[in-house]
Amino acid sequence: MQNYISQLNEAQQAPTLQKDGPMIIIAGAGSGKTRVLTIRIAYLMSLGVDSFNILALTFTNKAAKEMKKRIADIVGSSEAKNLWMGTFHSIFAKILRFEADKLGFPSNFSIYDSQDSVRLISSIIKEMQLDKDVYKPKQVLSRISSFKNSLITVKAYFNNPELQEADAMSKKPRLGEIYQQYVDRCFKAGAMDFDDLLLRTNELLNRFPDVLAKYQDRFRYIMVDEYQDTNHSQYLIVRALSDRFQNICVVGDDAQSIYAFRGANINNILNFQKDYEGVQMYRLEQNYRSTKNIVEAANAIIDKNKVKLDKVVWTANDDGPPIRVHRSLTDGEEGRFVASTIFEQKMQQQLKNGSFAILYRTNAQSRAMEDALRKRDIPYRIYGGLSFYQRKEIKDVLGYLRLVINPKDEEALMRVINYPARGIGNSTLEKLTVAANHYGRSVFEVMEAIERIDLKLTSGTKNKLLDFVTMIKSFQVINETQDAFFLADHIAKKTGLIQELKKDATPEGVARVENIEELLNGIRDFIEGQIEVDGARGALSEFLEDVALASDLDKDTGDDDRVALMTIHLAKGLEFPYVFIVGMEEDLFPSAMSLNTRSELEEERRLFYVALTRAEHQAYLTYAQSRYRWGKLVDSEPSRFIEEITDKFLDYLTPTETNYKYKPMINADIFGDVDKSKFRQQKPTNGTPPKWITDNDPKPDSGIRRLKPMSRPAPQDSAAAMPDSKLAPGNVVMHERFGRGQVVNLEGVGADKKAEINFEVGGLKKLLLRFAKLDVI
Ligand code: ATP
Ligand code: MG
Repeated sequence: MQNYISQLNEAQQAPTLQKDGPMIIIAGAGSGKTRVLTIRIAYLMSLGVDSFNILALTFTNKAAKEMKKRIADIVGSSEAKNLWMGTFHSIFAKILRFEADKLGFPSNFSIYDSQDSVRLISSIIKEMQLDKDVYKPKQVLSRISSFKNSLITVKAYFNNPELQEADAMSKKPRLGEIYQQYVDRCFKAGAMDFDDLLLRTNELLNRFPDVLAKYQDRFRYIMVDEYQDTNHSQYLIVRALSDRFQNICVVGDDAQSIYAFRGANINNILNFQKDYEGVQMYRLEQNYRSTKNIVEAANAIIDKNKVKLDKVVWTANDDGPPIRVHRSLTDGEEGRFVASTIFEQKMQQQLKNGSFAILYRTNAQSRAMEDALRKRDIPYRIYGGLSFYQRKEIKDVLGYLRLVINPKDEEALMRVINYPARGIGNSTLEKLTVAANHYGRSVFEVMEAIERIDLKLTSGTKNKLLDFVTMIKSFQVINETQDAFFLADHIAKKTGLIQELKKDATPEGVARVENIEELLNGIRDFIEGQIEVDGARGALSEFLEDVALASDLDKDTGDDDRVALMTIHLAKGLEFPYVFIVGMEEDLFPSAMSLNTRSELEEERRLFYVALTRAEHQAYLTYAQSRYRWGKLVDSEPSRFIEEITDKFLDYLTPTETNYKYKPMINADIFGDVDKSKFRQQKPTNGTPPKWITDNDPKPDSGIRRLKPMSRPAPQDSAAAMPDSKLAPGNVVMHERFGRGQVVNLEGVGADKKAEINFEVGGLKKLLLRFAKLDVI
C-alpha cells in the first residue's frame, strides 16, 4: 500500500490519508482527483474498513470498473468485488429492486429508456387529443425530467401556481395532466424511467426511516467523483446516506460543470462546506496529464468566466507543441484534414488509433468525420450515438425478454404484440389501452381477462390475443428452468423474429440478423461473467437491468484499436494523447442555443475547457467556413473561444481569421474536392506564422460561387510525387503546412525514406517522404 501512496504527491496524499470526516477536493482537470479517490478506497480497505461498507459513485460504469480493477491490483480481487461502485443510476436501481415493494412496485420493475418514455408520452398526447406540434413529446419529457430531478412530484406541481402558469404561458396548459398520466402509466406498467431511479430512491429514503438507517449503516464511507455534475435529486441521496457517519469525500471541479442544462447544480459544490460540519477542503494544483501549452491555454480560457472558484493549475510536463488551429472551407474538408492528420501522425510517430479522439459539440457532426475516416481506412468508434441496445431489432428481442420478466411492461408489449405481424391491429390496441386505463390494470391483464370484458372484439381477434398471452407465459415457464441465453435464443426463433429478418437479404437485413446473434453472444458472456463473480447463473432480470443502464462508454472493452469519436459531454474524465476539437464555430460552439445569458455562455466555455483538457500531448482546433446544417449550407465564423486563447499557445495552420473574415465565401466545395492549389503560401518571415493568401484576395468583390470544379494545375516539382526523388541535404523545400525549411538529412530507403528538415517556423522535423507534400524551391 505504502508503495501506491508514495506515488502520489504531497497534496494528493493528504486527502488520501484522511480516514474519517467530510472532505471535498476541488481541483482542476488532470490533477489526479480520480486517482486520489481510487487509492483512497484501497487505503481505507488496508486500514480494515470492510469493503461492503464503501460506496463510490462515478460518472460512468466503465470508470467504476476501471477503478475497481486498480483497487483489485492493490488489495486483491476477492475483496474489491464487494465494493459498491457505479453510477447513481445503476447503484440505486439495485437498491430499489430490494425495496420496490415498499413503493408499490414489483421487484422485477422495468426500466424505461428515453425511447420508451418518448413513445409513452406521444401516445398520451394522442389519447388526450392534443396537438403534438405544440406538445412536442421530447420537450414534454425534458420538462417532466426537470421536475423529477428537482423532486417536484405531480402533487407538488399542482400545488405550485407558478409552474402551472409558466406552462400555460408557453401554450401548454395541460402539461400537468400529461405528467400525471405519464406517472400513472409508468406505475401501472411496473416501470421506472431514468429519473425515477433517483426520485424513487429519495422517496424511499424519506418515507421509510428504517430503510434509510439500513443503508446509512451499510455505506459508512461514501465517495463521489465528478461531484460538480450532481443534480438536486442525487445531492439529496448522498446527503441522506452520509448523514449518520459523515464520512463523505467528494471530488470535483467547478470549471468542469457541464450538465446544468440537465439539472446539475453547481451550488452542490459551492455549498458543501455549509452542509457538513468540520469539512476539510483540499486543493490539488499539479496537472499530470497535459503539456504546459495545453494547461496554460486552458487556464486562460476558464479565466474568462466570471463565476468560478479561484484555482491554480500548473504542470511540470514539457511545453509540448502549440495548439494547432485549422480552417477549412467546408465540413467535408475539415473531416479530410482530421483524417489525413491522424494518418500522418500515426505513420510518423508510430501511434495507435486509440491515441486519437475527435470531440464535437453535437452528434450530428460525426458524419463528416466518419466519411473521411472511412475513406482513409482508419478504424473508429462512435460513442453515444444510437447505442447497440437501442437498435430496432435488438429492442424487439429485448421487448420480449422484458415482457417475460414483467408482463405489465406496456412499452415492451406495444412494441412486440404485433411484431412479427399477428393480425392484431391498432384499433384493437386502442381498445385495450382504454380498457386498461378504465380498470386501472395493465394491458396484459386486460388481455388475460379478454373473455370476461366486452370490448366488441371478434372471436378471431380474441384468440390472437390469448395466443399471445399463452406464448409469453410459456416463455416464463422456460425462464424458470433455463438460462437467459437459452430463453433468448428460443424467443428469437419461436416468435418468428429471426425468420422475419432473414426474409430481407439486403446488407442491412443481414446486419440485423448479425446484431441479434451479437446480442445472444452478449447474453452468453454475461452469464459466464456472472458465474465467475457469484457462482450463480446469470439471471435474465439482471441482464436487462445492465442493458437498460449501459451507456455506450460502458461497453468499450478497449480491446480493439480505434479512433474515438464522441461529444465533449461524454469525454468528461477521459484522456487521449491527441485530441481534435472540431466545429469550432460561432453558433455551433458556443451553441446558438446557449448565447442568451451569461451563465449559458459560461457553461459553453466550461465545456471547451473540458474538451481541451482531455488532450495529453497535442490539441487541434478545427473549423469550417461553411457547413451543412439542417440541410442548408451556412456560412460560419470561427468560435470566439479560439480568440480567447493567447496567440502564443497557438499555431495557425491556415489563414488567421482576420485574413478572410467578412469576405464573401467562395471555393466552397459544394461540387467536389476543393482545389488546394488555389492557396499559396507567402514567404514566411522569421518569427511570424506564415500567412496564407488565396487567389481571390486581390479582388475581394469577386465572390461568385464556383459552378464547376476547378481543374488542378500540373503538379510542381514535388518530392512526394517521385518515388526516389532527387531531394538532397541542403535543398530548400516548401511544406504544405510547415512552410519553408531546409533538408538537413535523409535516411531510409523506398517507402521508409525520411527527411529531416529544419523549418523556419516550427524547427526540426522528421517526415516520411511518402506522405510529406514537399515542393523543392
Ligand atoms: P479530470 O478532472 O479530467 O477528471 P482528474 O483530476 O480526475 O481529471 P486523473 O484522471 O486522476 O485526474 O489524473 C490525470 C492523469 O494524471 C492520469 O493519467 C493519472 O494517472 C495521472 N496522475 C495523477 N496523479 C499523478 C501522480 N502523482 N504521478 C503521476 N501521474 C499522476
Ligand atoms: Mg477525473
